[in-house]
Amino acid sequence: MTHATAPERHSAVHDTVLGAIGNTPIVRLNRVTEDVDAEVYAKLEFTNPAGSVKDRIGFWLIEDAERRGVLRPGGLVVEGTGGNTGIGLAMAAAVKGYQCVCTVPDKMSEGKIKTLRAFGAEVVVTPTVPPEDSRNYCNEARRIAAREPNAVYIDQYNNLANREYHYLHTGPEIARQLPDVDVLVAGLGTGGTLCGTGKFLKEHRPGLRVIGVDPVGSILYDAYKHGRRVPPAPYLIEGIGKDCVPANIDFDLIDDVVQVADRESFAMTRRILKQEGIFAGVSSGSVTVGALRWIVEGDSDLAGKKVLVIFPDSGSRYVSKVYDDEWMSANGLLDDEPNGGVARS
Ligand code: PMP
Repeated sequence: MTHATAPERHSAVHDTVLGAIGNTPIVRLNRVTEDVDAEVYAKLEFTNPAGSVKDRIGFWLIEDAERRGVLRPGGLVVEGTGGNTGIGLAMAAAVKGYQCVCTVPDKMSEGKIKTLRAFGAEVVVTPTVPPEDSRNYCNEARRIAAREPNAVYIDQYNNLANREYHYLHTGPEIARQLPDVDVLVAGLGTGGTLCGTGKFLKEHRPGLRVIGVDPVGSILYDAYKHGRRVPPAPYLIEGIGKDCVPANIDFDLIDDVVQVADRESFAMTRRILKQEGIFAGVSSGSVTVGALRWIVEGDSDLAGKKVLVIFPDSGSRYVSKVYDDEWMSANGLLDDEPNGGVARS
């Protein structure tokens, strides 16, 4: 079996597409960072074979279910997903011969839903409602897995194998590529990327700071900063933010959380394409805004320090949103500053 843990991951020829997961490039950001004296680098996770950071945990969580004996040949993989995890799971399910059902909240991009269906996954679109509501996408996924034989609910939010993958693989990969990294910045969805990678990098480089980015409307910023639960509110950024604290988030490991708004995130995503030539998804704009804000407003002198931000997915998943002026305008997101500013909070 070939997967991202196998040694052949480092060679150019793989037995299956799963061997091509990981080893994503790191690229320095040069123009969107002109107002800060830290060096900012982006890890381009959209170069994974099915297009996002979630390819890394798609196959890993399926293999975790196999190891635990809860998924047997020909079985059904069920997950509640904003789209990217589903696509990563559907890719691994295709290779390994499993069926895949994804429940997806209706705010997610049509592009992601179409891609999921193209991979052969069955998609159940659910209303965008809080976890207490039985129609919530995770509750629906749990119900489907419970009623089907030989089915497993993957549960990326609470299955700690998620952050374990990043501790065992993404962290060491970054330590090889950018050994003198000083700050890691990533969006918080499940928290697996930030907390798994951050844990490894702190062990590798004591003093490294781990910074989470959370959209306005998500509850994670207030839960971290003030230990209180604010009511969730809608926002347009996809893939980050949550209405409860997933088990994969370890607040003790995180040094700070920065809050970002829709408007500045969408503007920065467009600016990253125009000024850096990087075709990234909207949460990449969010993490860039969050990183720049933390650098500018933080109390440390970061001159010459290396800040790494994780770019989770590609702009191709959002062409009908962030790159569509009509959609941007209809949603009040077209900036009066043409380059997109990094507003201070
Ligand atoms: N950005 C996007 C576009 C995503 O799909 C996700 C995963 N939900 C994230 C960021 C956050 O990654 P994680 O779940 O590892 O916190």
